[in-house]
Amino acid sequence: YGRFIKYLKYWQENDIVGACAQTDAKGDRSKRPHDQADPDLYVHVVERKGDGIIVRGAKQSITIPPYSDEIVVLPTRAMREDDKDYAVAFAVPGDADGVKLVTRPAFLRKRQKLDAPIAHTGVSDSMIIFDNVFVPWERVFMCGEWELSRNLALLFALFHRHSYTGCKPAVSDILGGSSALVAECNGIERATHVREKLSKFIGLAELVYAAGVASAQFAKKSPSGTYVPDPVYANAGRRLAGENIYHEYDLLIDLAGGLAATLPPEGDFYSEETGNLVDKYMARNPKVSSEYVHRTFRLIENIACSGIAGWLQIAGMHGGGSPVMETIAIMTDYDIRGMKDVAKYLAGINKELPRIRHEDLVDYYIDID
Ligand SMILES: Cc1cc2nc3c(=O)[nH]c(=O)nc-3n(C[C@H](O)[C@H](O)[C@H](O)COP(=O)(O)OP(=O)(O)OC[C@H]3O[C@@H](n4cnc5c(N)ncnc54)[C@H](O)[C@@H]3O)c2cc1C
Repeated sequence: YGRFIKYLKYWQENDIVGACAQTDAKGDRSKRPHDQADPDLYVHVVERKGDGIIVRGAKQSITIPPYSDEIVVLPTRAMREDDKDYAVAFAVPGDADGVKLVTRPAFLRKRQKLDAPIAHTGVSDSMIIFDNVFVPWERVFMCGEWELSRNLALLFALFHRHSYTGCKPAVSDILGGSSALVAECNGIERATHVREKLSKFIGLAELVYAAGVASAQFAKKSPSGTYVPDPVYANAGRRLAGENIYHEYDLLIDLAGGLAATLPPEGDFYSEETGNLVDKYMARNPKVSSEYVHRTFRLIENIACSGIAGWLQIAGMHGGGSPVMETIAIMTDYDIRGMKDVAKYLAGINKELPRIRHEDLVDYYIDID
């Protein structure tokens, strides 16, 4: 723990940017780490030395490693005793010897004339290969403590999912805002079905955000002094977002129509031969200019029909943990017995309904003021 605190201070003092590498290659999903045909399919310790450890394996789908100072590695799942060499957590500089970043950038076509903030966005994800990397002991935070692997994996996922409940509603706002904009361009913003669709974005974004607020409000103070978000609220919020990302795209594309996929290339809007004609046929709602319509559809092409669009959708479903993982976390932490007790009481199976004791609630309300 002392080691970790020292490392944390290094981050704080140097304003470090880090990538969290949790997701292993994982191989055959039905097998545990030590059962895999190739032992390197989960990152593991291959040698323990006097001054540190040697690790090998690969982490997959990791966001931002090429522009991170540090890569923090932790287990992706619970381990059993047989898996103890896989119960390893450590940190290395992004350019440490033996660390190979195989990177897939997602970016938008460069614009020539119609510049806009969205055109300057992009992201990179890497497969991080640890090819016999030496890690000094002061950067090793777990090495063989397989019983703690589950907690560490879930704890990182919990904080990540909690932060997700804050950032994902912003994606919904972008998708919902673009839907409102294109409805205006199409002259249909007052139609009942449009208002119904826009309200879906609002309902989703606000519920996910509310789950994050509730998770923070009901956070519990851990012995270290760090507050840990409530896992049920955070996971329920993240799952709601993950299950609905494709539905949000469904709503946007329904309202945008096919031009989102077939918008003429930017150059044709400015060519001598076709520019005026393309502009003429872009006209829709007389209250907005052709450039307004062009800008709207270029935005929608960028967020819904591009390399980044695919990234946003898949990130929306799997980034931070697929919905099934939130289901597992919810089922681990929720008091199903309490829920069943209510049904038993109402059905007359039990005569008494156990009351929630005030002492159990005190913890929850401790910091509300
Ligand atoms: C854009 C993006 C960014 C990401 N960034 C990061 C990052 O920065 N750091 C990081 O650590 N990870 C990151 N991830 C990885 C993300 O956490 C994983 O994609 C997610 O946890 C799912 O794991 P997976 O991709 O291996 O899918 P899988 O686990 O292979 O899931 C695929 C399907 O298999 C099913 N399945 C898996 N195992 C079993 C089993 N034993 N039995 C039955 N069914 C099973 C799942 O339920 C799912 O339906 C990112 C992912 C994306 C898409």
